[in-house]
Amino acid sequence: MTIDDLKVIGIIGAGQMGRGIAQVTAASGWQILLHDVEDAALQTATKKIGEGLAKALEKGVLTPDQVESAKARLKPTSHLEALAETQLIIEAAPENPSLKRSLFRLLGQICKPETILASNTSSISITNLGAVSGRPDRVIGIHFMNPVPVMKLVEVVRGMETSDETTTLALDLAKRLDKTPVTCTDTPGFIVNRILIPMINEAVFLLQERQGGQDTGVTPEAIDLAMTAGANHPVGPLALADRIGLDTVLAICEVLYQDLGDPKFRPCPLLRKYVEAGWLGRKTGRGFYRYT
Ligand code: NAD
Repeated sequence: MTIDDLKVIGIIGAGQMGRGIAQVTAASGWQILLHDVEDAALQTATKKIGEGLAKALEKGVLTPDQVESAKARLKPTSHLEALAETQLIIEAAPENPSLKRSLFRLLGQICKPETILASNTSSISITNLGAVSGRPDRVIGIHFMNPVPVMKLVEVVRGMETSDETTTLALDLAKRLDKTPVTCTDTPGFIVNRILIPMINEAVFLLQERQGGQDTGVTPEAIDLAMTAGANHPVGPLALADRIGLDTVLAICEVLYQDLGDPKFRPCPLLRKYVEAGWLGRKTGRGFYRYT
């Protein structure tokens, strides 16, 4: 299948990434089936996509007609089976290796043989998802960045058996979306998260460390200011972690630690505590910062 043959895309997971991918692909002319196990997530996604398209209209990126036709092309569904007839599936369910493995096993069974299965995973082995799907040549990583409508990069991750045809389709999809694709090796965290997540984790270690209980003023604000003013980062590491979701940051950290077997990737205990407390960042209203 070439990019010109592609008409219908299925997206799994209507969280912050799935709904962003749904927004940009619908706006680019594809029919989209957006699936989530939670009805509430589908409702929130429809609302947020509407807001995202309205923003694109305001900026003059889309015309009123384009906004209306993008909305008309988007169909939410709580039935995974509804995606069986799509030509490409982009999975954006939570960063949980066993959940993704069972989804790819099931998708391999229910989708038509030619359907390409892509994962938006931040760190999990594409080779493994390909193996469990039973169609490893048609499995690939298409890793968008957050927020999807804004960020240019798309990491295209080839598994051990991903075919050239599948890779070309993923690269062409990214280009049609006006993104910048970069091909990556199927190694934990690929390029961006191999570098970014240890930095965020280190920032949490800094927050955890106290000089014998002395208040050194090393607050989240201080750490973020140091990195914005001192390293020219547009967002500090802790504010960025809140945006990504601390559950997702921890999950990526666990994959890096387990799959690379290097203690330097061990997740900071304080990060784990925040996740245990349900302080997941912006999506729950509290992380390293509070959100109203
Ligand atoms: P999220 O928590 O915002 O959304 C996940 C969604 O998946 C939820 O709506 C949940 O209801 C749904 N879900 C759970 N189980 C499901 C299932 N079995 N079938 C269908 N839907 C299911 O998470 P997110 O931040 O959108 O992350 C999704 C994926 O994208 C992860 O693999 C993550 O690593 C990756 N990713 C995240 C970011 C980021 O900054 N958050 C960036 C790039 C990639």
